[in-house]
Amino acid sequence: MTTASISETTTFQKAAHNLLGDKGFTREPDRVEPWLTDWRGRYTGRALGLASPASIKEVAALVRLCAEHGVPLVPQGGNSGMAGGATPDASGDSLVLSLRRMNAIRALDPNAGQAVCEAGVILQSLHEAAQDQGLRFPLTLGGKGSATLGGLISTNAGGTQVLRYGTMRAQVLGIEAVMADGQILDQLTALKKDNRGFDLKQLLIGSEGTLGIVTAATVRLLPAPRSRVTAWIGL
Ligand SMILES: Cc1cc2nc3c(=O)[nH]c(=O)nc-3n(C[C@H](O)[C@H](O)[C@H](O)COP(=O)(O)OP(=O)(O)OC[C@H]3O[C@@H](n4cnc5c(N)ncnc54)[C@H](O)[C@@H]3O)c2cc1C
Repeated sequence: MTTASISETTTFQKAAHNLLGDKGFTREPDRVEPWLTDWRGRYTGRALGLASPASIKEVAALVRLCAEHGVPLVPQGGNSGMAGGATPDASGDSLVLSLRRMNAIRALDPNAGQAVCEAGVILQSLHEAAQDQGLRFPLTLGGKGSATLGGLISTNAGGTQVLRYGTMRAQVLGIEAVMADGQILDQLTALKKDNRGFDLKQLLIGSEGTLGIVTAATVRLLPAPRSRVTAWIGL
């Protein structure tokens, strides 16, 4: 790295810290390192720091700042993905963008069977919130205690009930995201008869953070089963 790029890096890190504060930006090894290795322990990278914005406005401002300084972003949810997509490369030039602080369930409407969740909501938390209303979110998987809605959307996760209920594509009714230039895409409205042009949410689902940062989504909820029966069937 040249002297010029070191000072550019420092300028960027200072600006990111000014923008997000102590809670939202850190370079402390103890706080950054746990997020530099993927869940399977196959890849370990380096990063300029760990950014943890608390609102969509902060995400948008950070994305603009990164675009200005040419800093690559690696979005991260629960870091439980199996393909290493949430791990930065070895260059140390990129910034890990954690969505874990954005973990509010903004609304849960039992009549409509819909919930609006921020990207950092952990799957198990959504299951519990739905269950409290006699509903359920029909996607589950072994990593439900750490996987976030943003990660599930970005990997188009399937889970153990995929044959019956479909992947995340089938569960997402609306999306909110920050695009690469910092613009906010607000398509959270779950309008069923939406025949306007391209369906951008379906483009974002499964794109692993390459097209934008998912900040929230409207997802469908189903009535909880009233009883369960297990059958062993020999075929
Ligand atoms: C025990 C176990 C069982 C599992 N079972 C299944 C299974 O049955 N089916 C299945 O499909 N998966 C399964 N997985 C994989 C994993 O749970 C999913 O890939 C999950 O979607 C990852 O969510 P995460 O929040 O941990 O995402 P991360 O690992 O943090 O990120 C995954 C990818 O999404 C991107 N990303 C994360 N958040 C955002 C965001 N807000 N905006 C844009 N991009 C983002 C990251 O950059 C990365 O490319 C399992 C994992 C474990 C540990």
